[in-house]
Amino acid sequence: MISTTMPPHIVTRFAPSPTGRLHIGHGWSALMAHDRARKNGGVFRLRIEDIDGARSREEHVTGIIEDLAWLGITWDGEVVRQSDRLPVYAAALDRLKAMGLVYPCFCTRADIAASASAPHGPEGAIYPGTCRALPLAEQVARFETTPCAWRIDMAKAVALVGRLTWEDAGHGTILADPLGAGDVVLARKDAPTSYHLAATVDDAAMKISFVLRGRDLMGATDIHRLLQALLDLPTPLYRHHSLLIGPDGKRLAKRSGGIQLAEMRDAGVDPARLRDDLRRGVFPVGISVRDT
Ligand code: GLU
Repeated sequence: MISTTMPPHIVTRFAPSPTGRLHIGHGWSALMAHDRARKNGGVFRLRIEDIDGARSREEHVTGIIEDLAWLGITWDGEVVRQSDRLPVYAAALDRLKAMGLVYPCFCTRADIAASASAPHGPEGAIYPGTCRALPLAEQVARFETTPCAWRIDMAKAVALVGRLTWEDAGHGTILADPLGAGDVVLARKDAPTSYHLAATVDDAAMKISFVLRGRDLMGATDIHRLLQALLDLPTPLYRHHSLLIGPDGKRLAKRSGGIQLAEMRDAGVDPARLRDDLRRGVFPVGISVRDT
């Protein structure tokens, strides 16, 4: 393991999306970020990533807060709600628009899936670039009738910033490869932002110095690193921890039964015991760490 010196004032965070209750994998991740801050006299923040209007539920926000409190996790300062910060993300998007690095995309999911040329990356179909070169007159005409998302012109952005690296406390120096993700969405049709833009802007605004999150988001960090370079934002240190898998060998999902913290609480599990187990890497029967 690579040892990385912590900045003098460490600020970590847990940033769940309220699309369901927390499962044991979330609890483990939150506890790691919490402990890292607490052991180093730092700050631990909670951010609710509720920009997905269709899937976020207020009852899950309340539930997540209850789940964390039950597990004995305390956070510093106000809970940040991304839905309260839409103008901040819109301003960041405007900046990228002024730099000529984003373009409106009128495609539907079905259009993208049907595109014969759509290659696949880790996050599904890579956008084939259909709307990248739409003439201005056509863009203007379509604004009138069709909702649009905003995508980054990744090749142009990468050409502008050049070679970028970021540091992972477990994996060392990583050469960012945002091109692999293609022209990702920075503002959705239903919100003036996307996960990538909002998380990057918020990590900087909240002065997060150490981002601890699952390995499934390692590719996202390449994109976040690029956005930091474009928007003159600082780059935190990262650590992408292993994911937990269930008895079927698959990643734990919000909908999987029996592994939600709320279910454990209802079953009479002692939270102090669970916390100690998680800290020692001991998981309930059938749940294990996937190391790859
Ligand atoms: N909201 C994301 C999730 O629940 C996590 C984002 C992050 O940690 O950057 O998967």
